[in-house]
Amino acid sequence: MLDGCGREIDYLRVSVTDRCNLRCRYCMPETGVGDLGHANILSLEQIARVVSVAAELGIRKVRLTGGEPLVRKNIGQLIRMISGLDKIKEISMTTNGALFTAMADELKEAGLTRVNFSLDSLQEENFNYITRRGQLQDVIPAITKALQMGMTPVKINMVVMRTINDREILDFARLAYVLPLHVRFIEFMPIGDLPFFQEQRLMSGDEVKAVIDQKYELSARSTRQGSGPAKDYTIRGGVGMIGFISPMSQHFCSECNRIRMTADGKLRGCLFSKNEVSLKMALQNNASDEKLAELFKQAIWEKPSRHHLAKGWGADNQRKMYQIGG
Ligand code: SAM
Ligand code: SF4
Repeated sequence: MLDGCGREIDYLRVSVTDRCNLRCRYCMPETGVGDLGHANILSLEQIARVVSVAAELGIRKVRLTGGEPLVRKNIGQLIRMISGLDKIKEISMTTNGALFTAMADELKEAGLTRVNFSLDSLQEENFNYITRRGQLQDVIPAITKALQMGMTPVKINMVVMRTINDREILDFARLAYVLPLHVRFIEFMPIGDLPFFQEQRLMSGDEVKAVIDQKYELSARSTRQGSGPAKDYTIRGGVGMIGFISPMSQHFCSECNRIRMTADGKLRGCLFSKNEVSLKMALQNNASDEKLAELFKQAIWEKPSRHHLAKGWGADNQRKMYQIGG
């Protein structure tokens, strides 16, 4: 379906929980979060129903995110329900990877096609610092496992923060050189007004690329495959790929093909816009598929033309990244 700006919307990101087993400094407050509570989040059946309505409107790809999607109970069951929908061609997940290894076989068997791992440091101490409670030794085997299982392309997302992990840029680039991984460098965004965001920590995609250019020869991929916001490059002599996601320095809104649903059933046309269309009430009142489709169309139609993140998050924009779904 086309939105109000003529963009084809075929990608739905679903936050299945606002809870998380980590406390990454750029995403969550240390004290943890007052989570939405069981009664306020959509059931797995309700999520699957929304996806089936969305599929009829043209959604073809679904990404499960959060919070941490793997802490949602019976997530495999949800994947199974979604993969049973004919029109959905891809079900992927963004995860911190801590719980992935033990669940990988079940997830793949249920129909998970791809996985993106968020990993911001390859150094134990720095990893502990950034995530506050993560263990690198849980994540590395998870990535290896996803590669072994052929869930390609396996993507690694690194949020680059000056003085925090920018000294590791070449180590991450090397990962894509030696392994068939797609490593993406993401600009730090001031989401949720967390004090950890500081202007001087923001490093643009161009700056990161300049660091990588000193050691590796990158060639821009001529055709855009899939429909992501990343600018992708191959590495001369390497087996993986490198990408840059630069929402702060070069917004990619004109190519945006996605819509998001929060764990409490709010459709959000843009990560950065506080406008939401709620499906929750309609679901609780056993609304018809037609009614749900109407609300869905409204959210797609009202999707903003672009974000204004450079002006900051906005004090009236209450939600944080883990509540919207990254
Ligand atoms: N827990 C899962 C994970 O970490 O992959 C999924 C949810 S997390 C909110 C999704 C993505 O958002 C992660 O890749 C994370 O690095 C990114 N993210 C969170 N806060 C961010 C920020 N302030 N700037 C840039 N990326 C951010
Ligand atoms: Fe949790 Fe992901 Fe946020 Fe880290 S980035 S705190 S893993 S939701």
